[in-house]
Amino acid sequence: MTCGIPYIFGALLSVEKDLLPDRLLTDNNIELVIEEVKAIRRDEKAVVLSSGQKICYDKLVLATGSVPVRPPIPGIDLENVFFAKKDPDYLQRLLVSFEKAKDVVIIGGGFVGVEFAEQFRKRGLNVTIVELLPHCLQLNLDDEYCVVAEEKLQELGIRVITKERVEEIVERDGRVVGVRLAGGERLRADMVLVAVGVKPETSLAREAQLKIGETGGVWVNEYMQTSDEDIFAAGDCAEKYSFFTKRPTNLRLASIAAREARIVAANLSQLKVKNLGTIGCFATTIGDLGLGATGLVERAAREAGFDVLVGTATTTDKHPGAMPGAKSLKVKLIFDRTSKAIIGGEVAGGTTTAELVNVISAMIEKRMTVEEVAFSHYGTHPNLTASPRTYPIAYAAEDALSKV
Ligand SMILES: Cc1cc2nc3c(=O)[nH]c(=O)nc-3n(C[C@H](O)[C@H](O)[C@H](O)COP(=O)(O)OP(=O)(O)OC[C@H]3O[C@@H](n4cnc5c(N)ncnc54)[C@H](O)[C@@H]3O)c2cc1C
Repeated sequence: MTCGIPYIFGALLSVEKDLLPDRLLTDNNIELVIEEVKAIRRDEKAVVLSSGQKICYDKLVLATGSVPVRPPIPGIDLENVFFAKKDPDYLQRLLVSFEKAKDVVIIGGGFVGVEFAEQFRKRGLNVTIVELLPHCLQLNLDDEYCVVAEEKLQELGIRVITKERVEEIVERDGRVVGVRLAGGERLRADMVLVAVGVKPETSLAREAQLKIGETGGVWVNEYMQTSDEDIFAAGDCAEKYSFFTKRPTNLRLASIAAREARIVAANLSQLKVKNLGTIGCFATTIGDLGLGATGLVERAAREAGFDVLVGTATTTDKHPGAMPGAKSLKVKLIFDRTSKAIIGGEVAGGTTTAELVNVISAMIEKRMTVEEVAFSHYGTHPNLTASPRTYPIAYAAEDALSKV
């Protein structure tokens, strides 16, 4: 249960339907113990469970994930203020509240806040997003893509307030009745969802005196070993390093967690696979709009000191554009002007968005140059892709080439 959480409140209307069955593990002869680990005894190579039972290990993998950030806003502890917690009982309580709610304020316009907003709206709630930055999704996308997202949110009837801060969650008789913004406006709300990011869950690692990284994750080397070589860490709890700069980065995604888990699994008996850093490949949807990005968007590339070369393309995701269901498709590719290597990409389109982002991601990992991207092989079909003439990745690379 992770990425599907927002869809519990719109598409699924059930917590149960978002749960992966335990038999995926048990059918593969994996013993599952449902208990909390209270401590790691490194001297005994054992973990201690809440029942007091000890389980010994040769190798231990920390995958304790992350917890939602709780900003110190007055009223944050009120009954009808919720977080995107990965806890079925908690989400069931949120579902009950949601079913009675009319006016919801979402604090935070990142992809989690935006996905909740879209799903809440689908079920007829009045939804307002309050975002501190100038745009929703600004941590993931360049401004022009954020604007596309905001226009779609507004088209769906979601109010978006940016460059604004929630000062207080207002209550009456212990229940939320609204939020007060720093600018003075008061918004009506009978439920508030806080989605302002996550922080790595590292309490076990800290108590076991494992090294903690700069962004607060458990420090790991390129084999994903912690400062204790018999303890590995993967996923949201582990420190991440940028593929481009090798500096610590705050990216935390399920796709990154799954990749790191594969690396750890490969390295448990013998150190075989190196993690060369996190590219950060992300996608989301708002109504029928798909949005995605991978690597460094233009803003991030400039901040990281790259001399940036950009190519853009606008086409349709079927061809000819008159094909039923064809959607506009916008692609932006970011290259390092010095090495000519592709370092980022962004897509706004329909259902092909995420897979296009994944293709760009593979190109980034292989450090393909602008020429190689422009002259690659791409398959096309009227019902499935843009036309061969305007295949968006090649088309955007050609645009970049014209500026070399
Ligand atoms: C609403 C939402 C939507 C998201 N959508 C996407 C998406 O579309 N795509 C994407 O790539 N990412 C998405 N993410 C991010 C993604 O969910 C996380 O990156 C991913 O879940 C990280 O996986 P993990 O296994 O490292 O940690 P988690 O999923 O957080 O799992 C950690 C587990 O460890 C357990 N645990 C912690 N401490 C202990 C202990 N002491 N003893 C025993 N168990 C313990 C926790 O209970 C939890 O079950 C989304 C996140 C949220 C909140």
